[in-house]
Amino acid sequence: MSGRPDDIDFEEEIDRKYICPICLAVLWDPVQTLCGHRFCKLCLGGLVRGSWRFGMSRCPVDKKFFSVTADLFEDNAFKREVLSLRVKCNNHNIGCNWKGELRDYQGHIGSCSYSQENCVYGCGIRVKRLEHDDHKQVCHQRPVNCEHCDEQIFYADLTKHQVLMCEHFPVQCTLCGQTGIKRKDISSHIDVNTGDCPQTIIPCKYASYGCQFQDKRRCMSDHYTADPDHHILLLVQHNASQDRKIAELTSQMEKLMSIAKNVVKKPVKWRN
Ligand SMILES: [Zn+2]
Ligand SMILES: [Zn+2]
Ligand SMILES: [Zn+2]
Ligand SMILES: [Zn+2]
Ligand SMILES: [Zn+2]
Ligand SMILES: [Zn+2]
Ligand SMILES: [Zn+2]
Repeated sequence: MSGRPDDIDFEEEIDRKYICPICLAVLWDPVQTLCGHRFCKLCLGGLVRGSWRFGMSRCPVDKKFFSVTADLFEDNAFKREVLSLRVKCNNHNIGCNWKGELRDYQGHIGSCSYSQENCVYGCGIRVKRLEHDDHKQVCHQRPVNCEHCDEQIFYADLTKHQVLMCEHFPVQCTLCGQTGIKRKDISSHIDVNTGDCPQTIIPCKYASYGCQFQDKRRCMSDHYTADPDHHILLLVQHNASQDRKIAELTSQMEKLMSIAKNVVKKPVKWRN
């Protein structure tokens, strides 16, 4: 017989003969002494261990001596009687209508829809087995998929994930206010060279020819049309300086060529 369940509710008040005089609950695994009194095996065992002398102990009810080894009996017929006592589920006050024999009590409690169990998602809440599925739909620890990146996260962390981390979450460009840009695409949107954000400050495309002008991307076409001569002048100056460099290089090359010619013209002297 396994351990006695807690809080057994009997259908009717039970006869005193089914009550253990030591623990005052229903007899569990009962043994009978020679003097005819019954106790739970565990209850009497605990008492006997603390009190026996020369193999004898006293009945706690009438103080009669009995032999610990010879005068204790297991009464199987009585045990069956106890197990046949009518009980009701201890969840009856929250709706369970189960009634049955004591022998089936633990089996029922193990599967009673009204018994409470820990939420499978580990949120710490205890739910009725009956309502577990409903709770799982709303549990803040339930796993959900982010609708933007499809990553699986706890529901409680979803907002934080989307607001701070999700690479696919649509965000707003803080420069131009455009919405619906995936977080991972923001840096290329505002990139100085390859982006398309109209508010990014970019250099003039003639910067390498000496134009120092910078402005928002959306204003650059004004710059190009407003003063085209300015850029043409820069190009002309650039061209002129290139021409000077080429002329310099050409004259240096000619000098080198003439030196080389003289070297070749020298007669070869053979050693004897
Ligand atoms: Zn007892
Ligand atoms: Zn007795
Ligand atoms: Zn039940
Ligand atoms: Zn939960
Ligand atoms: Zn996401
Ligand atoms: Zn932008
Ligand atoms: Zn410019």
